[in-house]
Amino acid sequence: MRTFSKIAPSAMASFPCSKSRTGVCVWPGMRQLSLRKNLLYGFMQLLSMPFKTVRGVSRSLRVSKLCSITSTSSSLQIELVPCLQDNYAYLLHDVDTGTVGVVDPSEAVPVIDALSRNNRNLTYILNTHHHHDHTGGNMELKARYGAKVIGSGVDSDRIPGIDIALNDGDQWMFAGHEVFVMETPGHTRGHISFYFPRSKAVFTGDTLFSLSCGKLFEGTPEQMLSSLGKITSLPDDTNVYCGHEYTLSNSKFALSIEPGNEELQSYAAHVANLRRKGLPTIPTTLKAEKLCNPFLRTSSTEIRKLLNIPATADDGEALGAIRRAKDNF
Ligand SMILES: [Zn+2]
Repeated sequence: MRTFSKIAPSAMASFPCSKSRTGVCVWPGMRQLSLRKNLLYGFMQLLSMPFKTVRGVSRSLRVSKLCSITSTSSSLQIELVPCLQDNYAYLLHDVDTGTVGVVDPSEAVPVIDALSRNNRNLTYILNTHHHHDHTGGNMELKARYGAKVIGSGVDSDRIPGIDIALNDGDQWMFAGHEVFVMETPGHTRGHISFYFPRSKAVFTGDTLFSLSCGKLFEGTPEQMLSSLGKITSLPDDTNVYCGHEYTLSNSKFALSIEPGNEELQSYAAHVANLRRKGLPTIPTTLKAEKLCNPFLRTSSTEIRKLLNIPATADDGEALGAIRRAKDNF
Protein backbone atom coordinates (compact mmCIF):
# COMPACT_ATOMS: atom_id res chain seq x y z
CA MET A 1 0.00 0.00 0.00
CA ARG A 2 1.25 3.44 -0.81
CA THR A 3 0.50 6.28 1.53
CA PHE A 4 1.85 9.72 0.98
CA SER A 5 1.73 12.20 3.79
CA LYS A 6 2.04 15.90 3.40
CA ILE A 7 4.66 17.46 5.55
CA ALA A 8 4.19 21.01 6.75
CA PRO A 9 6.03 23.42 4.44
CA SER A 10 9.67 23.56 5.38
CA ALA A 11 9.18 21.30 8.36
CA MET A 12 12.82 20.34 8.09
CA ALA A 13 14.12 23.61 6.75
CA SER A 14 12.36 25.62 9.43
CA PHE A 15 14.72 24.43 12.14
CA PRO A 16 16.22 27.56 13.61
CA CYS A 17 19.64 28.42 12.33
CA SER A 18 22.37 29.13 14.81
CA LYS A 19 25.36 31.36 14.32
CA SER A 20 28.75 29.84 14.81
CA ARG A 21 31.64 31.83 16.21
CA THR A 22 32.80 32.54 12.71
CA GLY A 23 29.45 34.10 11.95
CA VAL A 24 28.60 31.37 9.46
CA CYS A 25 25.03 30.29 9.75
CA VAL A 26 24.87 26.56 10.43
CA TRP A 27 22.28 23.95 11.18
CA PRO A 28 21.62 23.03 14.80
CA GLY A 29 24.21 20.78 16.43
CA MET A 30 24.68 17.41 14.82
CA ARG A 31 23.38 15.55 17.86
CA GLN A 32 20.21 17.62 17.95
CA LEU A 33 19.78 17.28 14.23
CA SER A 34 20.42 13.59 14.39
CA LEU A 35 17.80 13.18 17.13
CA ARG A 36 15.24 15.13 15.13
CA LYS A 37 16.07 13.19 12.02
CA ASN A 38 15.80 9.87 13.79
CA LEU A 39 12.42 10.87 15.19
CA LEU A 40 11.31 11.88 11.74
CA TYR A 41 12.72 8.75 10.21
CA GLY A 42 11.01 6.60 12.84
CA PHE A 43 7.72 8.22 11.97
CA MET A 44 8.38 7.62 8.32
CA GLN A 45 9.12 3.99 9.00
CA LEU A 46 5.86 3.78 10.92
CA LEU A 47 4.08 4.84 7.80
CA SER A 48 6.30 2.49 5.82
CA MET A 49 6.51 5.12 3.14
CA PRO A 50 8.55 8.20 2.40
CA PHE A 51 7.00 11.61 2.67
CA LYS A 52 6.13 13.41 -0.45
CA THR A 53 4.97 16.94 -0.74
CA VAL A 54 4.26 19.01 -3.74
CA ARG A 55 6.15 22.20 -3.40
CA GLY A 56 7.94 24.41 -5.90
CA VAL A 57 11.68 24.06 -6.07
CA SER A 58 11.96 27.84 -6.22
CA ARG A 59 10.25 28.04 -2.86
CA SER A 60 12.68 25.57 -1.38
CA LEU A 61 15.55 27.58 -2.73
CA ARG A 62 14.30 30.67 -1.00
CA VAL A 63 14.20 28.67 2.20
CA SER A 64 17.73 27.42 1.73
CA LYS A 65 18.96 30.97 1.26
CA LEU A 66 17.93 31.75 4.82
CA CYS A 67 20.84 29.75 6.07
CA SER A 68 24.23 28.88 4.63
CA ILE A 69 24.39 25.16 5.12
CA THR A 70 27.82 23.67 5.54
CA SER A 71 28.41 20.29 3.98
CA THR A 72 29.64 19.00 7.31
CA SER A 73 26.13 19.36 8.70
CA SER A 74 24.92 16.66 6.35
CA SER A 75 25.22 13.04 7.34
CA LEU A 76 24.79 11.81 3.78
CA GLN A 77 27.73 9.96 2.29
CA ILE A 78 27.91 9.64 -1.48
CA GLU A 79 29.93 6.80 -2.96
CA LEU A 80 30.71 6.61 -6.64
CA VAL A 81 30.26 3.15 -8.17
CA PRO A 82 31.72 2.71 -11.68
CA CYS A 83 29.49 0.57 -13.90
CA LEU A 84 29.66 -0.68 -17.50
CA GLN A 85 32.19 1.21 -19.64
CA ASP A 86 31.83 4.74 -18.37
CA ASN A 87 28.67 4.94 -16.25
CA TYR A 88 28.51 5.98 -12.62
CA ALA A 89 25.94 4.76 -10.10
CA TYR A 90 25.99 6.53 -6.73
CA LEU A 91 25.39 4.96 -3.35
CA LEU A 92 23.72 7.30 -0.86
CA HIS A 93 24.31 6.35 2.76
CA ASP A 94 22.69 8.14 5.67
CA VAL A 95 25.11 7.51 8.51
CA ASP A 96 22.55 8.21 11.25
CA THR A 97 19.96 5.64 10.20
CA GLY A 98 22.00 3.34 7.96
CA THR A 99 19.54 3.92 5.12
CA VAL A 100 21.06 3.35 1.68
CA GLY A 101 19.87 4.33 -1.79
CA VAL A 102 21.43 4.06 -5.20
CA VAL A 103 21.14 6.49 -8.10
CA ASP A 104 21.02 5.03 -11.64
CA PRO A 105 22.24 1.45 -11.20
CA SER A 106 23.01 0.48 -14.78
CA GLU A 107 23.92 -2.99 -13.56
CA ALA A 108 23.40 -4.81 -10.27
CA VAL A 109 26.72 -6.54 -9.60
CA PRO A 110 28.97 -3.54 -8.88
CA VAL A 111 26.25 -2.12 -6.62
CA ILE A 112 25.84 -5.44 -4.78
CA ASP A 113 29.63 -5.63 -4.35
CA ALA A 114 29.76 -2.11 -2.93
CA LEU A 115 26.90 -2.85 -0.54
CA SER A 116 28.39 -6.17 0.54
CA ARG A 117 31.75 -4.60 1.35
CA ASN A 118 30.05 -2.69 4.14
CA ASN A 119 27.35 -5.24 4.92
CA ARG A 120 24.60 -2.83 3.89
CA ASN A 121 21.04 -3.24 2.70
CA LEU A 122 19.42 -1.22 -0.07
CA THR A 123 16.19 0.68 0.57
CA TYR A 124 15.77 2.91 -2.48
CA ILE A 125 16.68 2.98 -6.17
CA LEU A 126 16.52 6.44 -7.76
CA ASN A 127 16.40 6.71 -11.55
CA THR A 128 17.03 9.93 -13.46
CA HIS A 129 15.63 8.47 -16.70
CA HIS A 130 14.54 5.28 -18.37
CA HIS A 131 17.61 4.40 -20.47
CA HIS A 132 18.90 0.89 -19.82
CA ASP A 133 22.34 2.14 -18.81
CA HIS A 134 20.65 3.88 -15.88
CA THR A 135 17.98 1.33 -14.92
CA GLY A 136 19.50 -2.01 -15.98
CA GLY A 137 20.10 -3.10 -12.38
CA ASN A 138 16.65 -2.13 -11.06
CA MET A 139 14.89 -5.47 -11.12
CA GLU A 140 17.76 -7.57 -9.76
CA LEU A 141 18.41 -5.11 -6.93
CA LYS A 142 14.71 -4.81 -6.17
CA ALA A 143 14.34 -8.60 -6.03
CA ARG A 144 17.41 -9.04 -3.83
CA TYR A 145 16.83 -6.21 -1.33
CA GLY A 146 13.15 -5.30 -1.70
CA ALA A 147 14.21 -1.74 -2.56
CA LYS A 148 11.62 0.78 -3.76
CA VAL A 149 12.18 2.28 -7.21
CA ILE A 150 11.71 6.03 -7.57
CA GLY A 151 11.43 7.70 -10.95
CA SER A 152 9.66 10.19 -13.16
CA GLY A 153 5.87 10.25 -13.28
CA VAL A 154 6.14 11.30 -16.92
CA ASP A 155 8.01 8.07 -17.73
CA SER A 156 6.45 5.69 -15.20
CA ASP A 157 5.66 3.20 -17.97
CA ARG A 158 9.33 3.07 -18.99
CA ILE A 159 11.07 2.83 -15.59
CA PRO A 160 11.46 -0.88 -14.69
CA GLY A 161 9.82 -1.73 -11.35
CA ILE A 162 8.79 1.83 -10.49
CA ASP A 163 7.04 2.18 -7.10
CA ILE A 164 7.07 5.92 -6.46
CA ALA A 165 6.48 8.35 -9.33
CA LEU A 166 7.60 11.93 -8.78
CA ASN A 167 7.11 15.09 -10.80
CA ASP A 168 8.57 18.56 -11.10
CA GLY A 169 8.70 20.41 -7.78
CA ASP A 170 7.92 17.33 -5.70
CA GLN A 171 9.74 16.99 -2.42
CA TRP A 172 10.68 13.56 -1.18
CA MET A 173 12.48 12.57 2.00
CA PHE A 174 15.45 10.22 1.99
CA ALA A 175 16.03 9.23 5.63
CA GLY A 176 15.41 12.79 6.76
CA HIS A 177 17.22 14.45 3.86
CA GLU A 178 15.09 16.71 1.70
CA VAL A 179 15.21 15.78 -1.96
CA PHE A 180 13.75 18.05 -4.61
CA VAL A 181 12.75 16.70 -7.97
CA MET A 182 13.38 18.84 -11.03
CA GLU A 183 12.04 17.76 -14.39
CA THR A 184 14.95 18.27 -16.78
CA PRO A 185 13.75 17.04 -20.21
CA GLY A 186 15.71 17.23 -23.44
CA HIS A 187 17.75 14.01 -23.39
CA THR A 188 14.51 12.08 -22.72
CA ARG A 189 10.95 13.33 -22.20
CA GLY A 190 10.77 12.20 -18.57
CA HIS A 191 14.29 12.98 -17.38
CA ILE A 192 14.48 14.22 -13.79
CA SER A 193 17.30 15.47 -11.57
CA PHE A 194 17.46 14.96 -7.80
CA TYR A 195 18.63 17.87 -5.65
CA PHE A 196 19.79 17.34 -2.04
CA PRO A 197 20.14 20.93 -0.74
CA ARG A 198 21.61 20.10 2.64
CA SER A 199 24.33 18.00 1.03
CA LYS A 200 24.83 20.52 -1.79
CA ALA A 201 24.46 17.72 -4.31
CA VAL A 202 22.50 17.35 -7.52
CA PHE A 203 22.23 14.14 -9.53
CA THR A 204 21.83 15.17 -13.15
CA GLY A 205 21.88 11.84 -15.03
CA ASP A 206 22.33 12.56 -18.73
CA THR A 207 21.13 16.18 -18.65
CA LEU A 208 24.24 18.00 -17.43
CA PHE A 209 27.65 16.36 -17.79
CA SER A 210 30.94 17.93 -16.88
CA LEU A 211 31.72 20.08 -19.95
CA SER A 212 28.72 18.89 -21.95
CA CYS A 213 25.03 17.97 -21.90
CA GLY A 214 23.13 14.88 -22.99
CA LYS A 215 22.20 14.17 -26.59
CA LEU A 216 18.77 15.43 -27.58
CA PHE A 217 17.05 12.08 -28.18
CA GLU A 218 13.54 13.14 -27.16
CA GLY A 219 13.66 16.90 -26.82
CA THR A 220 14.52 20.23 -28.37
CA PRO A 221 17.45 22.58 -27.76
CA GLU A 222 15.00 24.95 -26.06
CA GLN A 223 13.92 22.22 -23.62
CA MET A 224 17.55 21.39 -22.84
CA LEU A 225 18.33 25.08 -22.37
CA SER A 226 15.46 25.36 -19.90
CA SER A 227 16.53 22.18 -18.07
CA LEU A 228 20.12 23.37 -17.78
CA GLY A 229 18.81 26.72 -16.57
CA LYS A 230 16.95 24.99 -13.73
CA ILE A 231 20.11 23.20 -12.66
CA THR A 232 22.32 26.29 -12.89
CA SER A 233 19.85 28.23 -10.74
CA LEU A 234 21.10 26.14 -7.80
CA PRO A 235 23.97 27.57 -5.71
CA ASP A 236 27.37 27.69 -7.45
CA ASP A 237 28.97 25.43 -4.85
CA THR A 238 26.53 22.60 -5.61
CA ASN A 239 28.34 19.37 -6.45
CA VAL A 240 27.18 17.83 -9.72
CA TYR A 241 26.99 14.03 -9.95
CA CYS A 242 26.28 13.05 -13.56
CA GLY A 243 25.69 9.72 -15.24
CA HIS A 244 28.93 9.26 -17.18
CA GLU A 245 32.68 9.78 -17.06
CA TYR A 246 32.87 11.70 -20.34
CA THR A 247 34.79 14.72 -19.11
CA LEU A 248 38.13 14.16 -20.87
CA SER A 249 36.61 13.72 -24.32
CA ASN A 250 34.18 16.58 -23.62
CA SER A 251 37.15 18.81 -22.77
CA LYS A 252 38.60 18.27 -26.25
CA PHE A 253 35.42 19.48 -27.92
CA ALA A 254 35.04 22.39 -25.47
CA LEU A 255 38.61 23.55 -26.15
CA SER A 256 38.05 23.26 -29.90
CA ILE A 257 35.24 25.84 -29.81
CA GLU A 258 36.52 28.11 -27.02
CA PRO A 259 40.32 27.80 -27.09
CA GLY A 260 40.83 31.20 -25.45
CA ASN A 261 38.92 30.31 -22.27
CA GLU A 262 41.67 30.21 -19.62
CA GLU A 263 39.43 28.66 -16.98
CA LEU A 264 38.64 25.87 -19.43
CA GLN A 265 42.32 25.37 -20.28
CA SER A 266 43.11 24.99 -16.60
CA TYR A 267 40.15 22.68 -15.91
CA ALA A 268 40.95 20.52 -18.95
CA ALA A 269 44.55 20.10 -17.73
CA HIS A 270 43.24 19.10 -14.29
CA VAL A 271 40.85 16.59 -15.87
CA ALA A 272 43.61 15.06 -18.01
CA ASN A 273 45.77 14.71 -14.93
CA LEU A 274 43.01 12.97 -12.98
CA ARG A 275 42.29 10.56 -15.82
CA ARG A 276 45.99 9.76 -16.26
CA LYS A 277 45.92 8.61 -12.65
CA GLY A 278 42.71 6.65 -13.24
CA LEU A 279 40.75 8.96 -10.95
CA PRO A 280 37.18 10.16 -11.52
CA THR A 281 36.47 13.75 -12.55
CA ILE A 282 33.09 13.64 -10.81
CA PRO A 283 31.70 15.41 -8.90
CA THR A 284 32.19 18.69 -10.63
CA THR A 285 30.70 21.94 -9.36
CA LEU A 286 28.20 24.29 -10.91
CA LYS A 287 30.75 27.08 -10.58
CA ALA A 288 33.30 25.21 -12.71
CA GLU A 289 30.66 24.23 -15.25
CA LYS A 290 29.42 27.80 -15.67
CA LEU A 291 32.99 28.90 -16.40
CA CYS A 292 33.91 26.04 -18.73
CA ASN A 293 30.92 24.07 -20.11
CA PRO A 294 30.11 25.31 -23.66
CA PHE A 295 26.44 24.34 -23.26
CA LEU A 296 26.18 26.81 -20.37
CA ARG A 297 28.07 29.46 -22.36
CA THR A 298 25.77 30.00 -25.32
CA SER A 299 26.45 33.74 -25.23
CA SER A 300 30.25 33.35 -25.56
CA THR A 301 31.38 35.46 -28.50
CA GLU A 302 34.30 33.11 -29.13
CA ILE A 303 32.04 30.05 -29.35
CA ARG A 304 29.57 31.89 -31.57
CA LYS A 305 32.33 33.11 -33.85
CA LEU A 306 33.97 29.68 -34.22
CA LEU A 307 30.65 27.94 -34.94
CA ASN A 308 29.29 30.74 -37.15
CA ILE A 309 26.33 31.31 -34.85
CA PRO A 310 24.86 34.72 -35.68
CA ALA A 311 24.82 37.34 -32.95
CA THR A 312 21.07 37.56 -33.47
CA ALA A 313 20.53 33.85 -32.66
CA ASP A 314 18.94 33.26 -29.26
CA ASP A 315 20.43 30.95 -26.64
CA GLY A 316 18.24 28.00 -27.72
CA GLU A 317 19.44 28.28 -31.31
CA ALA A 318 23.03 28.61 -30.11
CA LEU A 319 22.69 25.52 -27.91
CA GLY A 320 21.27 23.60 -30.88
CA ALA A 321 24.27 24.62 -33.00
CA ILE A 322 26.74 23.63 -30.27
CA ARG A 323 24.97 20.28 -29.84
CA ARG A 324 25.09 19.58 -33.60
CA ALA A 325 28.81 20.45 -33.66
CA LYS A 326 29.43 18.11 -30.71
CA ASP A 327 27.46 15.29 -32.37
CA ASN A 328 29.75 15.61 -35.40
CA PHE A 329 32.99 16.16 -33.50
ZN1 LIG B 1 20.53 8.38 -21.27
